[in-house]
Amino acid sequence: MNFLRTQLFGSSSPLFRPQIRAMHIQSIPMWTGKGNNYAYLVTDEPTKQSVIIDPANPPEVAPELKSQIASGKIDLTAIVNTHHHWDHAGGNGDILKQFKGLQVIGGKDCASVTKTPAHGEEFKIGDRISVKALHTPCHTQDSICYYMQDGDQRAVFTGDTLFIGGCGRFFEGNAKEMHKALNETLAALPDDTKVYPGHEYTKANVKFCIAVSQTEPIKKLQAFADQNKQTQGKFTIGDEKLHNVFMRVNDPEIQKVTGKTDPVDVMAALREMKNSM
Ligand SMILES: [Zn+2]
Repeated sequence: MNFLRTQLFGSSSPLFRPQIRAMHIQSIPMWTGKGNNYAYLVTDEPTKQSVIIDPANPPEVAPELKSQIASGKIDLTAIVNTHHHWDHAGGNGDILKQFKGLQVIGGKDCASVTKTPAHGEEFKIGDRISVKALHTPCHTQDSICYYMQDGDQRAVFTGDTLFIGGCGRFFEGNAKEMHKALNETLAALPDDTKVYPGHEYTKANVKFCIAVSQTEPIKKLQAFADQNKQTQGKFTIGDEKLHNVFMRVNDPEIQKVTGKTDPVDVMAALREMKNSM
């Protein structure tokens, strides 16, 4: 009987799971092969309450939302934006037309924003998911990362501030701000927090990391990026501290390569090197 049960259900059958998985994160790739953006649908499974993060290209996102609403899988309550750029917040108007009554939670410059949470402000999705807004100005001044927690599941949605193995360009800010964003604000999150960035840029990022530093964690990331088209949610803040050179500004090896010692100067030098690569 035990043999039969294993055959029929396998060990991952919901019947034998000790508890239901509560925070569900679905990636929705957009403009694949061009911008390689990600929207993310985050659902509190017990209540079905859901938010959609950066649904910038409605033709690729709305059909999925409609089908899940129709089948009773989600109760969509809000758009959440990481920053105002068109390839993150540019779909808000169209999504609001198609789905009535949504809140728009995001930075002050995001289209149709209805709520801008303060730095450190918390809110909930459904019963279980707690969300903390972390202001990380630099790529844009209104950049916000969202740290979400449900029991021992932890995730952070980093927009164009932190990428796997990289960071965003300093369009509206400076190296001091990016150093604070990456190496104080995000580095303070628990090491096992999974990272969900706004773009799939890992392959290009790791090319730069390996030009700067040839450590085992960077070689591992390169191997993973060579074998996997999607890397979002596969690495943690703890991993980034090892393989992301922008989070190693205090490492003597990186200081030597950049010829700088002050962490802000190291950050500035790395960004310039990456920009000209
Ligand atoms: Zn951007």
